Order: sequence, then C-alpha cells, then structure tokens
Amino acid sequence: MTILVVEDEVKITRFIKRGLEMEHYTVDVAYNGEDAIEKIELNSYDLIILDIMLPKKSGIDVVKQLRDDKIETPVIMLTAKDTIEDRVKGLDAGADDYLVKPFAFGELVARIRALLRREKTVKSTKLQIDDLILDPATHDVSRAGKELKLSSKEYRLLDYMMRRPGHVCTRTMIGEHIWGYNFTDDSNVIDVYISYLRRKVDKGFRNKLIHTVRDVGYKIQDKGLGLPKT
Ligand code: CA
Repeated sequence: MTILVVEDEVKITRFIKRGLEMEHYTVDVAYNGEDAIEKIELNSYDLIILDIMLPKKSGIDVVKQLRDDKIETPVIMLTAKDTIEDRVKGLDAGADDYLVKPFAFGELVARIRALLRREKTVKSTKLQIDDLILDPATHDVSRAGKELKLSSKEYRLLDYMMRRPGHVCTRTMIGEHIWGYNFTDDSNVIDVYISYLRRKVDKGFRNKLIHTVRDVGYKIQDKGLGLPKT
C-alpha cells in the first residue's frame, strides 16, 4: 500500500510519514500542489493525504483536477480550521474524508483503514480490454475465455498497463512501479518481460493489444484490426 502525503509543513509531513511507515505503509511525499499532481500522474497511489493550504496549487484545486482527470484515488483532506465551509468545499471538490489539524495520529490511521477497505470493494472491478480480462480480486487473467498463467511480475506489469489503457507507459514508469524507485534502465529487463507478456496475451490473436511506442515505452490498447467499420 503506497500513500502520498501532500503538505508543505515539513514537521507535519515527517510526523505523518514516520507514523505511517511504522504501520507498514509505503509513503511518498510532495510539498506543493503542482508537485503532487505530477507524482500522482506518474505513480499509482492507494490513497492521498492532502492538505488544503499548499503553495502553487491548493488542495481543493488538486483534488478537483484529479477528479476531472478521472483519477479516483481516495483522498483525505487536512484542514486547519474546523469550519463547515472548508469541509463542504473539500468534499464537494471530490475528497472522500477530512481531518482537522491538529489530529490524533490514531484517528488518521483509522480513517485510512476505513477508506482502503471501501476502496478494496471498488477496486475489485474487473479490468477489460477487448477480450482480455483481469480480475484484481482473484488475480485471474483470461483472454477470449481462456485462462492465462502469469508470473507475479507479469501480472503486476499487465495490471499497471491495463489501468492506463491507451496511455504510454514509459520504461521509467514501469521500472519504478514494478522494480522499485531506484530502478535504472540500463538493462533490457522491461523489454524481456513485455516479450513474455506478448507471448501469453497476444500470441495467436489477430488483434494485438500490447503496442510498442518507439524509444519511449509501451501501451496497451484495443486498436481493433484496422478494418473499416460497416
Ligand atoms: Ca499547509
């Protein structure tokens, strides 16, 4: 589980990060709204803790932009004042919950757990591209009704790409997500795994779903067979 903490007050950020790491969450940090958006677009977080008062872009604007971009990661807003107006603004913009500063750490953890539990039910929605189906609840993958046996890395790679249909997944994005933050692209390990996936997902099918984006990375997309529609 990876959580992004967005807050410009370094003391609070450090306190939350340390506490959450003790609860075995992986924690990433952003100190302003623009940085947050950039990180959210590049990584897939399970939850975001977002302060309202931020430099460059407010927490309200960040959550608005995420929801406009159809990014549905659960968001807990932090607000300095317990005014109804602030709460309503945050929830209206698309936040899932809010917490008034100063808060007890135990309460933050309880809210996180509740949101992640709820999210688990939502996330169990199957992903589908053409006749390729991935079920996050059971980890079953099938194409045209036939089960595909994937290794855990292959599964994570496919899951990552299927959550971004039609979007380029750069080698850096894939590397950092599957192999970790210190990934350096000086081996051809990603290309090797893509070739494994292609063998299982696309081999024998006329409609190829995994596409190479030259010099950049890969994407998964149902382009059809290029036949004119009748
Ligand atoms: Ca702040």
